[in-house]
Order: sequence, then C-alpha cells, then structure tokens
Amino acid sequence: MGLIVQKFGGTSVGSVERILNVAACVKEETEKGNNVVVVVSAMGKSTDQLVGLAKEISSQPSKREMDMLLSTGEQVTIALLSMALNQQGLDAVSYTGWQAGIVTEPIHGNARITKINTEALQSQLSNGKIVIVAGFQGITEDGEITTLGRGGSDTTAVALAAALKADKCDIYTDVTGVFTTDPRYVKEARKLLSVSYDEMLELANLGAGVLHPRAVEFAKNYQVRLEVRSSMEKIAGTVIEGEATMEQNLVVRGVAFEDEITKVTVLGLTNSLTSLSTIFTTLAQNQINVDIIIQSTTEAGTANLSFSIHTDNWLEALSVLENNKPVLGYEQLDAENKLAKVSIVGSGMISNPGVAAKMFEVLASNNIPIKMVSTSEIKVSVVIEEKNMLKAVEALHKAFELGDN
Ligand code: ASP
Ligand code: MG
Repeated sequence: MGLIVQKFGGTSVGSVERILNVAACVKEETEKGNNVVVVVSAMGKSTDQLVGLAKEISSQPSKREMDMLLSTGEQVTIALLSMALNQQGLDAVSYTGWQAGIVTEPIHGNARITKINTEALQSQLSNGKIVIVAGFQGITEDGEITTLGRGGSDTTAVALAAALKADKCDIYTDVTGVFTTDPRYVKEARKLLSVSYDEMLELANLGAGVLHPRAVEFAKNYQVRLEVRSSMEKIAGTVIEGEATMEQNLVVRGVAFEDEITKVTVLGLTNSLTSLSTIFTTLAQNQINVDIIIQSTTEAGTANLSFSIHTDNWLEALSVLENNKPVLGYEQLDAENKLAKVSIVGSGMISNPGVAAKMFEVLASNNIPIKMVSTSEIKVSVVIEEKNMLKAVEALHKAFELGDN
C-alpha cells in the first residue's frame, strides 16, 4: 500500500460539480489501495476576490490581516471536499495548515515552510482516513497564520509529500501537463512527457505558471516524484524527475515568457566598493525582488546600473531609491516599463555551444531589439519590449523545433 499526495488547483475545485469530480478522483486513488492526502486551493478565483475586497478597504492593508483573509479561501474547499467524500461513504477529515503541522518562517504573504510536524496527519492516515489539507497556508512558531505566496498550494503538496515520504505527488490542474510554451498563446505548443527538476525549476521561475517554483525546489531537494496532470482528462501528464528520460536530444526544451517587466537604471553611481551592495541591500530590505542586473563603469569613474523588476514593484523601487539618494549617491534615475522577458530553457545547453548565439540571431532576424540578457547553465533570458513578446516566443519555438515535428 502506497501513500499518494494529490493536489487540486483552484479551477479544479471551482464549483460544487468540480468538487464532486475531485472526490471521484480521490476515491479512485483509494480504491487502488493507497493512502491519500489531498491538498486543495481556494475555489476558482476566490483568492483574487478576497484580494479585491481588501483593496476596496485599504490600498496598503496589513500583511498579517491579508494572510488572515486569504487563508480562508482554502478552508472553504477543504470542508466541502471532505463533505463530498463523506457523502460517498469515505472516511475523510479536513485540516487547516496549522492543524496539519505546517510551520513557516515569520513572514507574511510569502513565507517559507521551515518544518512539518506530521504526527497528527500520520495518526489519521494510520486510521485509514483520507486527510484533506488546506494549501497555501501555515503557522509561525508564535502562532500567526501565514501564506506561502500566490500559487503556494503546490508547495504545500510537495512539502507534505516530502515530509510524509509519499510515493508520489500528483498535481492536478486545468492543463494536461507542462508544455514547450504556453499553449494558450502558441498553438504549436506541445506537451512534454518528462522534464528534469532543474529544467522545471527554471521554467517555473521564468513565469511558466504551471508550478510554484518553491514546490519544484522541494521536489528536487527531497527527490519527490511529481506529475502535473489534468483533473478533467484522464491522460498521462508530465513527470518531473531527476533526469529527463525522454526527448533528451533536444537542446532547448521550452520557451517561457513573462510580461510586466520594468527596467530601472541608476546613472552616475559613485563607483565605490560598497555601492552595489548598498543599493541591493536597500531594495532587499524593502522586499523588492531584483532579477537581471547589468553594471558598467564610465570614463568619469562612476558606474551605471540597470536592473529588472516586476512592474508591480516599480513605484516602490523608485521611492526606495529616491528616499535613500543621499546614502546611495547617484545622479539620476530612469525607468522603462512595458517590457517582457523571454527565456529558452534546456539542460542540453550545458554541452552545446551556440545556443545563445542562435537565440540572438532569431530575434535579430525578426527585428526584435534586446534590452537585457542573462544566462545560466541551462537557460538564456532576454528582456525585450512587451509588444514583441509573442512574436519572439513563436519565432524561438519554431527555430528550436519545439512544435509537433
Ligand atoms: N489560492 C492561492 C492562490 O490563488 C494559492 C493557490 O491556489 O495555490 O494563489
Ligand atoms: Mg497554481
């Protein structure tokens, strides 16, 4: 008898009918003789609706109260799903994050799981119960409710799978797996049968949206076998594992993209040993995530610095930089909005030179200017104008032969 963790996202539990469909899917797994832990998201768009309500009351609500509010979404789903299973004669019990022993660091809105006390879950499982756990939430050592960041239910599921040493973690969602690129925008997109943890980590971090990046991190660190699959169609999904076993011959496995990128430029920065650390420490202290960084020195002995951030953060980033101008010591600030990041990912890049060159060539031949570049062993990202994003994605998808045949 095995232990399976199943996770169902918002769309998959978006209505009573869909919750009944999920109950059937859970039932099927138990009928194979498995113990099952189910992690669910809030129904449909209800987290967004809660965010909307908060915004109607305050433009900057307290992060603690936001967590208090948003954590209610998942609590609705766990109770309803448990009732649906009970109705079918199955023994199910629902648990909030704190009841399930999910302990996080004391950060509101984007907390990391630090530990899971599994005793309660384990005793329910050994009594043959199906345990349903609210995704996306945890509790601090001091008893404060926290959330794990948008999309964080995936992380709850994988972390539980790791802590409970589950045989497998199935992420049920509204798509049939991980695609070479977003099939909503590129019709040639093809489902991948398998990807490696590292490739998936890059894809998730680059905005592919199918999996919460921290979930992939957990899966990699604890070697959790993950599968992303559809809750509506009973077909094989995408398996995420140590080494991609199929389609290895492809150097590039996927094209990820993300809009709403802003490039901030700091001109005339005093070129001292500590100026970069001061700037980025200041931004980090204000929870502003910086992505690509470019620095150049001028003949005048000063430095110019550009970095990219999510557009949501740009007003805050500018005000942080402006408020700290005396300490940071620069001449001028500049920002460019309406940018996008397009990335190609594939573990085969490590051993194949010329991949970045080919990417730049494809963009050049499509008249797409590149504003920033960053690379890792298995990805190349470019920042370009948002209006060129889909054109770039389609051209790259084609040039790297990612579509059907
Ligand atoms: N309900 C949360 C969200 O919408 C968490 C999740 O769905 O994973 O972001
Ligand atoms: Mg999700």
